[in-house]
Amino acid sequence: METSVQTKVCIKCGEDKELEKFQIHRSSGNRRNVCHECQRLQKREYTRTQNKELVSKRKKEWTERNKEKIKEYTKRYYELNSERMNEYQKRFRTENPEIVKERKRRYYQSNKEQINLKTKKYFEENKEHLVKKQKEYYENNKDWISEINKEYRLKNQERLQQYFKEYGEKYKDKISKKSKKYYLKNREELIKKSREYNLKNSEKVFETRKKYRELNREKLSEGKRNHYLENPEPYILRSLKRLKRLREPQKPKWSNPELIRRIYLKMIRLREEGYNVSVDHIIPLNGKEVWGLHIETNLRIIDRLENTSKGNRFKSCSDSELPLNELELDPSFLEDL
Ligand SMILES: [Zn+2]
Repeated sequence: METSVQTKVCIKCGEDKELEKFQIHRSSGNRRNVCHECQRLQKREYTRTQNKELVSKRKKEWTERNKEKIKEYTKRYYELNSERMNEYQKRFRTENPEIVKERKRRYYQSNKEQINLKTKKYFEENKEHLVKKQKEYYENNKDWISEINKEYRLKNQERLQQYFKEYGEKYKDKISKKSKKYYLKNREELIKKSREYNLKNSEKVFETRKKYRELNREKLSEGKRNHYLENPEPYILRSLKRLKRLREPQKPKWSNPELIRRIYLKMIRLREEGYNVSVDHIIPLNGKEVWGLHIETNLRIIDRLENTSKGNRFKSCSDSELPLNELELDPSFLEDL
């Protein structure tokens, strides 16, 4: 049997080889299925990967142990080779903008809060300088910036409107506080500017104001009343001044100043109670055709809206022809004078 050469196929390389090329298993006494050659390669490969893992593990451990040292070393290295490193980094940045961008994005995402906090702090500490710089930059690049802003606004009109609406409602108090402060600080200039604008666009301004008044009648009178209640002195002074300017014959000596005073005091009391009232001259003081007198019997307390809309429409006529509200006098208003 020894004359015929026996062979076996290796399951690794697939070659048909002599039996001697296959090692005998020490325990079973059978030949292996992998040839000598392949077995050797396998063993080497195994050691290599095993080693690799071991090496990388040791490296990691070493790095962990020498963290501070490495940091120090890297720093020193950078310092010593700053020029070369800068050069290299610059080249890298220009050659790999995508990678840089991605890195920045990733860095920002994982350090968001810290970065925002830092930025805020930096801004607070350098506010004046930064604002100044920004202003300068804006002045120097005004034209194209305003061009771009305009374009952006037009493109996102609806979205912006929605945004500002929501923002305004959310921060109502804060905004009104801020704008009040701004107004007080820049009052003179603002007044001057708006005066110039109004002069330039007088017709347009007039129309807009009229329309606004018509649309917001109640709101405006409410506002006026509140303003009056908060600081009534200037109002009272003004009306006293107006009365002083009256023509002499309109203030006859036989009037009862004490009664007149009480009527005005009553009006003030009513206003404090929330009534929207004013003292009205039944026959107007400066009518076109007649001048009324400033006497107690020509005074009444009326609803303010009625008074302001009355204007100067008093016409000389007999009492029976007077419009109803000219004669009406709420007696309760004068009860406890
Ligand atoms: Zn083989």
